[in-house]
Amino acid sequence: MSVRVVARIRPLLDKDKELSKDIIVRAEGPEGKKNVVRIPNPKNESEEFSFTFNGVYDMSTSQEELFTNEVAPHLKSLFQGLDVTIFAYGVTGTGKTHTMRGGLKMSDRGVIPRLLSGIYRRGRKVSKDSGGETGVAVTLSYYEIYNDKVFDLFESPDKRSLAGLPLREKDGKTVVVGLSERDCDDLKDFERLYIEANNNRSTAGTKLNAQSSRSHAILQVKVIQTNGDETLISTASAIDLAGSEDNRRTDNGKDRMVESASINKSLFVLSQCIDAIGRGDKRIPFRESKMTRVLSLGQNNGITIMILNLAPLRSYHLDTLSSLNVSSRAKRIEVREIENEVVFKQPPRGTSSIAGSNMQRQPLR
Ligand code: ADP
Ligand code: MG
Repeated sequence: MSVRVVARIRPLLDKDKELSKDIIVRAEGPEGKKNVVRIPNPKNESEEFSFTFNGVYDMSTSQEELFTNEVAPHLKSLFQGLDVTIFAYGVTGTGKTHTMRGGLKMSDRGVIPRLLSGIYRRGRKVSKDSGGETGVAVTLSYYEIYNDKVFDLFESPDKRSLAGLPLREKDGKTVVVGLSERDCDDLKDFERLYIEANNNRSTAGTKLNAQSSRSHAILQVKVIQTNGDETLISTASAIDLAGSEDNRRTDNGKDRMVESASINKSLFVLSQCIDAIGRGDKRIPFRESKMTRVLSLGQNNGITIMILNLAPLRSYHLDTLSSLNVSSRAKRIEVREIENEVVFKQPPRGTSSIAGSNMQRQPLR
């Protein structure tokens, strides 16, 4: 089991181009191998926090670069039978959907369509290398978890039961009972199914971003390799998570509060699972939320990649800090005026709870 946590800072959008003076989040490290995010301390701007990741992608990173560096290297393992799970985590408006789904232009395509295209390409190679003896089939499942309920996205919203689909344990794995699985033979099939399913999100419709930010969308791509009577099945999962913004500070009607409680809980459990996997713990608390449960997170032999999406702007300051606190492997505090001088080797007590996070991080050694 392995886990990588990387951060991606989105560029300024056309509408906020004039805000370049408000850029407060920066990537640092050797060119091509950046691994640190820096951000001012909101309570004392002469100090800066720095957070270390397995990789950091700055505003200029293309979709292709991110995919090539973080996802493509694992396609081989997927075909060797390992499960690959990719999460986009972050505040609403930071680029999760852009990273996972992307735009329609070829160069804008995100992780998901590139993953499918990589799977088909490798499938053809595996089949060819075996002299045609290995057959490769691909199926898709796509569902969302909204208010802790599971909804099949291949089913139209007016047909779905309001209670959502039940979960059941089967052979040590959690299965979503009644979830559909569609054959998906090529990229054309995929595009059609994916567009159709996205229109079924409880979130489709007018306030698209407002609503899609309240549910987790989980795409599961099953790769089935058969050779004679041997079958090898592995799954690639790509998840566009609900927004991680601090719901105590946003508009809060009663419905929103219900949503918030389940979002906060599942994101918290997710970060605990990622930490536990990273530490090599035997016990991963994956049972404590539906989202981590359906993914059996940490139970299978596999690879997990968490992409933390960040907006560079000051208007996201507190939310950015709290998602950095949840996702980063290491944090330290430095004084800004004197470049690179480390003032505190360890965050002083109380300082690291600044963003409302109660999670203490290990300081850098
Ligand atoms: P989220 O899904 O996290 O709420 P979105 O993916 O919808 O965020 O991104 C918010 C806006 O920023 C969208 O208009 C999106 O197209 C744009 N955006 C995000 N990341 C990038 C990027 N790397 N390059 C260009 N535009 C981006
Ligand atoms: Mg989104």
